[in-house]
Amino acid sequence: MLIRLTALAILAVTLMPSLGWAADDLARRPVIVCSTTQIADFARQVVGDRMEVHSVLAAGQDPHLYEKKPGDAQLVSTADLCLENGWHLEGNDWMRKLAEQTGRPLVTCVDGCNPLEVPGVDQAMDDPHAWFSCTNAATYVRNIRNAVIELDPEHANEYRSRAALYLDQLRALNNWIVREISKIPVEERVLVTSHDAFNYFCQAYGLKPATPVGWSTGNEVGAGISPQRRHDTIESIREHGVKAIFVETSVNPTMVRQIAREAGVRIGGELYSDSMGAPGTAGETYLGMMRENVITIVEALK
Ligand SMILES: [Zn+2]
Repeated sequence: MLIRLTALAILAVTLMPSLGWAADDLARRPVIVCSTTQIADFARQVVGDRMEVHSVLAAGQDPHLYEKKPGDAQLVSTADLCLENGWHLEGNDWMRKLAEQTGRPLVTCVDGCNPLEVPGVDQAMDDPHAWFSCTNAATYVRNIRNAVIELDPEHANEYRSRAALYLDQLRALNNWIVREISKIPVEERVLVTSHDAFNYFCQAYGLKPATPVGWSTGNEVGAGISPQRRHDTIESIREHGVKAIFVETSVNPTMVRQIAREAGVRIGGELYSDSMGAPGTAGETYLGMMRENVITIVEALK
C-alpha cells in the first residue's frame, strides 16, 4: 500500500510540471466568463482544460430579455477575460455593463464580422446574430484565440493548434450545410421562425427568412412583433407554398403555433437560435446545434 502511495506521489510530482502550471495554479486556472452558450463553446474549443470557461446564460435562455441575477457580478468579478457577442445581442448591453462594473477586460466577438443590417432607432443597425454563418463563427474563434494568447502567451502554440482544428471543422460544417440545403427545392427555401435570428444563416445558405418578430424579442426600436410583420409572414408562407415553419428553443412558441394554424401549415420542429441545447443533448455544442437545425429544416422542407 505504502509503495503504491509513494508511486502515486512520484507520478503526481512528475506530471504537475508537464501540465505547464505549478500545482498551486491548477486550483486557480484563468477564468473566462462568456455571455452566451455559443461563445462559451468556442472558448472551450480553443482553451481545452487550460482555462475555466463559464457562460452567464444557461441553455435555452434568451439574451435579449436576460435580467441580471445577483450572482452574475460575483462570477464576472472572478474573470481574467470576459467575452460578449456585441451589436446589442445582450439586451441593454448587460455583459458590457457587468464587465465595466467589475473592472474586468472585455472582448467583443463580432468584431471583424461582416454585418447585415436591421432597422434601428434613427438608422439601420448591425444584426447581432452573426454566429449563424460559419464564416462569422470563424471570426469569433479567431478573436477568442487572439485574446487567450494575449492572456497566456506561454501556451500560444496550444491555443493556435486547437483553434486551427476547430476552424477546419467549421469549414467542413459549412460545406455540409451547403450540400444539405441543396436538397430543398429552390422555390421552397423559405425559413419561417419566431424572430429575426436566422438572417445570416439564410444569406449564407440561400434561404429567404420570414419572421413575425424583428431582430430582438425585447422592446428595442425595430424589434418585437408588429401586425405588419405578422401579416407579411403569413403572406410569405402562402405565396411560397411553405410546408412547415419552426419554433425556437429560446423563444415562447405560442405565436408561431398561432401562425401555423392560421396559415394551415405544420410546425417543422424546434430550432436552436440564440442559445444552444442543454448539456447531454445533441445541440449542446455549436457544431451540434447547427447540424441538428439543418437536419430539422431539410427534413421538414425538402
Ligand atoms: Zn435573437
